[in-house]
Amino acid sequence: MTSVASDAFVFFGATGDLAHKQIFPALHALVRRGHLDVPIICVARSGWDLEKLRERIRDSLEKHGGLNEETFSKLCSLIQYIDGDYREPSTYERLCQMLGSSARPLYYLAIPPSMFATVTQGLAGAVCTRAARVVVEKPFGRDLASARELNAILETAFTQEAIFRIDHFLGKEPVQNIYYTRFANSIFEPLWNRDHIACVQITLAENFGVQGRGSFYDEVGAIRDVLQNHLLEVVAYLAMDPSTGDDPEAIREESRRLLRAIKPLDPLHIVRGQFHGYRQEAGVAPDSHVETFVAVQLFIDTWRWAGVPFYVRAGKGLPVTSTTVTVEFKRPPRETFGEIVPAFSNHLRFRLSPDVSIGLGIRVKIPGERRVGEDIELIMAQNEGDAMAPYERLLGDAIRGDASLFALEGTVEEQWRIIDPVLGDMSPLYFYEQNSWGPAEADQVIADHGAWYNPKV
Ligand code: NDP
Repeated sequence: MTSVASDAFVFFGATGDLAHKQIFPALHALVRRGHLDVPIICVARSGWDLEKLRERIRDSLEKHGGLNEETFSKLCSLIQYIDGDYREPSTYERLCQMLGSSARPLYYLAIPPSMFATVTQGLAGAVCTRAARVVVEKPFGRDLASARELNAILETAFTQEAIFRIDHFLGKEPVQNIYYTRFANSIFEPLWNRDHIACVQITLAENFGVQGRGSFYDEVGAIRDVLQNHLLEVVAYLAMDPSTGDDPEAIREESRRLLRAIKPLDPLHIVRGQFHGYRQEAGVAPDSHVETFVAVQLFIDTWRWAGVPFYVRAGKGLPVTSTTVTVEFKRPPRETFGEIVPAFSNHLRFRLSPDVSIGLGIRVKIPGERRVGEDIELIMAQNEGDAMAPYERLLGDAIRGDASLFALEGTVEEQWRIIDPVLGDMSPLYFYEQNSWGPAEADQVIADHGAWYNPKV
């Protein structure tokens, strides 16, 4: 089943924000590389026609990623449009007619999560789901119970193998590179355990606010928006065992196995923050308790990781936009040269954005008579070249039926199991100034191991 490519791409949410910022540029890139040559049926209710949609696609490409006239015209030749409400059965009847003889459509749900069930039921009601696949945008549920409920609804229309839960972080080259670097080299694995690693830090910093998406964000917050999905996926790639065998499913299984070993988060080891000014954003409740910043400590209960804290932090309104992982190695058993050595002296650093690099932090002797040293970082950087953007990679995979970079049901459930105890107002909310590194209380989360590493860019 999974190896046969889809013969139509049905795009729910084609007039939305994600479509404009990411999806049309991804479809354009897929067409440019010759990876997409099936009808693309867009479904929304804006009262638009095909001409208006094409204008929107042109605008999307001009603003996000560049437009090639020849590719644009090929893309437009594949596009069709249905204007209809997802709550109306007639929308699905028209869709089924337009699908014609398509035997294996791919449905992409880039729509508000409240509409996932409605569209699934509409497709099933119109008998449009036989042999079809579905890509579901994040967030997949709001907690463990609702994720299970959504899964059960999807299963009424699709087989488990046909459900593709998207997390665009898994389509990022630098994220895939974490797993690759760990296991394509033999020098890291002997050190990659509790004997040699003191702690791991992950920071996802954004130097902007909610960018006009206040009503969306105020329903979600930092824990649901990035910790439950993106950052736990990064933790899994950093900490999991190598997969065995050639089966691409094996990596997903290992990732799920690792997540299963993470203890549920403790409200005592989490700090939530909100930047001053958030409550004045359009669409945000004036008394909102939703966090725009979160810092947590988590533990992985395995022989490899017992006792090694993973510190994870994410926030908006911070000084820079950068996602950085720092693996801090233990110091030698004694300081042979009697120095007081700063934290992070020995580390491996994966910079996932904005630039992509790996840095090895070591201490070297300063030339001279005295045996004193300084910390330096050897930076290994690679030009990304013509690398695929995450949505191009993932949607291309989904069209081909390759689910290996999509989350399993069990993975999503493990993520919610870890997160559930700290959702809502289970911990206090602290305020912080924009352009700072979050509330001062976040320093307490990491105090036992030093300080947060604040990326410069
Ligand atoms: P938007 O609100 O911008 O777009 C929603 C889309 O759904 C629009 O095309 C809208 O059509 C359509 N729609 C909603 N209700 C109906 C209905 N009853 N009938 C017909 N069409 C309907 O959402 P986003 O694009 O921001 O987000 C879409 C999904 O992607 C969400 O699940 C979100 O969590 C996820 N996501 C978004 C990101 C982003 O940066 N925007 C990032 C990562 C994930 P119309 O405009 O015609 O009303």
